[in-house]
Amino acid sequence: MDKQQDFVLRTIEDRGIKFIRLWFTDVLGTLKSVAIAPAEVEGAFAEGIGFDGSSVEGFTRRTEADMLVQPDPTTFQVLPWRGEIDPTARMFCDILTPEGQPAVTDPRNVLRRSLDRAADQGFTFYTHPEIEFYLLKSADYGPDGPQPVDSAGYFDNVPGGTAHDFRRRAVRILEDLGISVEFSHHEAGPGQNEIDLRYADALSTADNIMTFRTVVKEVAIEQGVHATFMPKPIWKYPGSGMHTHLSLFEGDTNAFYEAGAQYQLSKIGKHFVAGILQHAAEITAVTNQHVNSYKRIWGGDEAPSFVCWGHNNSSALVRVPRYKPNKGGSARVEYRGMDAAANPYLAYAVLLAAGLKGIEEEYALPPEVEGDVRDLTPRERSVLGFRPLPASLDEAIAVMEESELVADTLGEQVFSYFLANKRQEWDQYRSQVTPFELDSSLRTL
Ligand code: GLU
Ligand code: MG
Ligand code: MG
Repeated sequence: MDKQQDFVLRTIEDRGIKFIRLWFTDVLGTLKSVAIAPAEVEGAFAEGIGFDGSSVEGFTRRTEADMLVQPDPTTFQVLPWRGEIDPTARMFCDILTPEGQPAVTDPRNVLRRSLDRAADQGFTFYTHPEIEFYLLKSADYGPDGPQPVDSAGYFDNVPGGTAHDFRRRAVRILEDLGISVEFSHHEAGPGQNEIDLRYADALSTADNIMTFRTVVKEVAIEQGVHATFMPKPIWKYPGSGMHTHLSLFEGDTNAFYEAGAQYQLSKIGKHFVAGILQHAAEITAVTNQHVNSYKRIWGGDEAPSFVCWGHNNSSALVRVPRYKPNKGGSARVEYRGMDAAANPYLAYAVLLAAGLKGIEEEYALPPEVEGDVRDLTPRERSVLGFRPLPASLDEAIAVMEESELVADTLGEQVFSYFLANKRQEWDQYRSQVTPFELDSSLRTL
């Protein structure tokens, strides 16, 4: 038994923990949970706990159902919102095959494989997400669509407002769970909020995002509202992105920083951005996995629609922010494409793979976009090489299907499961006759 495991067992005893929730994530990014009794934890560390993998989206084929969950003791936390009567804790888990091998279909394992490839080249990958979401009066909606809890806007301070209390409570719980929050504020849409988590290694960040979503949902229930990470819940208001700041470190040194270079962005940083741009269309089905995601990408506001980078330019897919002088450690690039409903493990795995490919192949960084890329004419954009992102889930799947990079990164089984699932989502959507069609055509045609 290692030290961490020992610490967990002691804490369970000292704090009188009654239930230990084992958390893991399916291929589509849904959090799964199984509760075990304290007496089972030692065995779970040693051998894992068996479950039926064929009932979890994307894990196994029906004929090979048995799988194991094995808790990661470094992720042990007591859950603050279940504390009063029966103290409950959680740990994230790795998924194993019955032979005790890491399961290739476990999203945590997919990300680990990508991180290992980075480590082979001497890099650690750090991420810092800005997570946007809407607070609605309820999950029910009438003909006017979902009703936001307020009519405030960007950075508005609404004393006594729902969002204010909501953020304070959510941030408090996140801090109690060991997740540092950097900023929280009202976003541009009515009822829309943003909470930014402090940067951490990508695996911790992905775990933190899963916890974050649960915390936000729990606090919403507590306060009698509904929280949604749907990418574009209300057509006339901005969508909810999950912009993510990315950086590579070599030991303690930020590999993206070079004093005196343009925007202080090092050669490695430039190749990394070039890699992301080169493969942006291929990875979009992963970073933007729903039919609804494309309503955000093509809905204007500050969501990116074209493959380009810019300095402090919020219309670009990749933004190179201004770094504080003498703070080379904070050098990073912001990927603005991803939305709040992505599976963070898979999304980080493919973003990292695209960036590393750029470094390995020494891709050249294309010219930056100046001003709003949407103000250019299609011809100007085409001359400058600013290609559009996929226009729909259908297009995104088609480009992903041809991508060696995404197939290698996700592994054959996740790659084909994901594509089949998304194809099904698209086919279901395509078969609908929507209110838009009825409203615009039923009387006139
Ligand atoms: N809500 C916008 C998006 O969908 C981002 C707004 C911002 O720049 O924070 O990406
Ligand atoms: Mg924002
Ligand atoms: Mg941002």
